[in-house]
Amino acid sequence: MRTVKTDVLIIGGGVVGSAIARELSRYRLDIAVLEKNMDICYETSGRNTGVCHGGFAYDVGSLKAKLCVEGNRMMDTLSDELDFPFRRCGKVLVGSTPEEYERLLEVIRQGEANGAAGLRMLDEGELQEKVPGVVGKFAMFSENSGILDPFGMTIALAENAVANGVRYYLEHEVTQIRREGDSYLVTAGNELFVTRWIVNSAGLNCGKISDMLGLTGYRLIYSKDDYILLDQRLGKNLPMPIYTVPSNTYMGIHVTLTTEGNVLLGPTAEDIDHPSGYGVEQKNLDYLYEEGQKLWPHFTKGDYIRTYCGILPKWVDDDGKIQDFKIEIRDDAAPHAVNLVGMESPALTASVAIARYVTAMMQERETFEDNPHFHPVRKGIARFSEMAPEEQQRRIAENPDYGELVCRCQKVTRAEILEAIHNPLGVKTVTGVKYRTRSMMGRCQGGYCQMRITQMLEEEFSLAETQVRYARPDSQMFYGKVREVEK
Ligand SMILES: Cc1cc2nc3c(=O)[nH]c(=O)nc-3n(C[C@H](O)[C@H](O)[C@H](O)COP(=O)(O)OP(=O)(O)OC[C@H]3O[C@@H](n4cnc5c(N)ncnc54)[C@H](O)[C@@H]3O)c2cc1C
Repeated sequence: MRTVKTDVLIIGGGVVGSAIARELSRYRLDIAVLEKNMDICYETSGRNTGVCHGGFAYDVGSLKAKLCVEGNRMMDTLSDELDFPFRRCGKVLVGSTPEEYERLLEVIRQGEANGAAGLRMLDEGELQEKVPGVVGKFAMFSENSGILDPFGMTIALAENAVANGVRYYLEHEVTQIRREGDSYLVTAGNELFVTRWIVNSAGLNCGKISDMLGLTGYRLIYSKDDYILLDQRLGKNLPMPIYTVPSNTYMGIHVTLTTEGNVLLGPTAEDIDHPSGYGVEQKNLDYLYEEGQKLWPHFTKGDYIRTYCGILPKWVDDDGKIQDFKIEIRDDAAPHAVNLVGMESPALTASVAIARYVTAMMQERETFEDNPHFHPVRKGIARFSEMAPEEQQRRIAENPDYGELVCRCQKVTRAEILEAIHNPLGVKTVTGVKYRTRSMMGRCQGGYCQMRITQMLEEEFSLAETQVRYARPDSQMFYGKVREVEK
């Protein structure tokens, strides 16, 4: 077994782990991220709604409220520095009854106490002006809410961390943690990692890692949320996300839009004891259709292009009451271990604020020297389809791969696919290309380009057909040949 030494070892490369990795790369530290999957946004960070929340829906004084408001405020700068799609389009919470009106006024009061700016009530006329065709008599409008690309944000944070010296170990599942002297000994894959600091940002597995650290006693439940993804043709008719009036524990069904213009319908929110797969049942699709029609009746079943599901880890007390984010360093029980438990919504919005909070906690115990080479800017893959015609011509003249469209729906060129195939994290899956280029995300969902992208992966890495994976080790694109062609 190979031994690898680090100053900081981060378990989990989702948006929270990657934000922490990037934040810590501002300092002279040897940092590694261990991720059990073949890519970093296969769990919750790639299975959410992508809304940049305003911070009004959380209890006053909670970490969820504080870190959401801070995360929301920094999103414009982050999106500029890291080059991922973000739009501050606003959001409405619509209602129809006097009780719902009162509840929305309460939400405004709570939001203002949390420091969330730009909240106000809209009457029916103002609501129709902002979101034509929505069903509701009035709404609460949050002007600071927005939408972001969750794949883009997670990948951008990770790539910037890598550019600043962080190492990512994909397909490295942590199976054991021991404390020896001043170090943690962590077994993952075929390596033994020896580290001074350890960070538990393992999302749905936060409880397991917490137990391995000796920080036992956290009770977790999980909320399984199903969604339907609708055609991009609808996005132009939906200027901002539409939510219903929230209860204390559930945001309600919403109709939101992605930065690519697709419309999302969901979630179902079913409490489960253990996460066990991401399947979506027909009865939940029927329920979402009915509820979605009540709010925004401008889609048909012909607009469905995909379903998906995300799962939230919720830390609850003995009575089942959902708790705040837990971010702790317990010097007595597990010194130099940062333990994050119950990183549910709004941890996408709050991820960089969480990372700064974690860094400050670590620096209360140790002074970190600045990394003089830290560079906060990262450039993503330039989108050919969004370039001016002169720029497109220039690119094609310099590199003919820009002249070949691989994904027709999303208009992604061979040059962009090749750049994604050779990504800085070394991800070699088909979905790795999908999340980095939006190819296979259009109406045909890869019907045309998926096979061509698979072939490009084979060619670039000299792989046999049976070696290419869609997303996970057991998701082979091909199992063998149906027949051999004689040459
Ligand atoms: C349906 C849904 C909608 C949501 N909508 C929003 C929204 O609109 N706005 C918002 O702000 N938030 C939203 N959220 C919440 C947000 O997506 C999550 O809080 C956030 O993505 C959590 O990030 P994470 O890095 O903690 O978890 P994850 O993305 O799950 O990352 C944890 C990583 O740890 C890895 N891991 C686990 N165990 C191990 C191990 N033993 N060894 C190595 N690696 C391990 C996993 O593979 C995973 O990649 C939503 C969540 C859901 C489910």
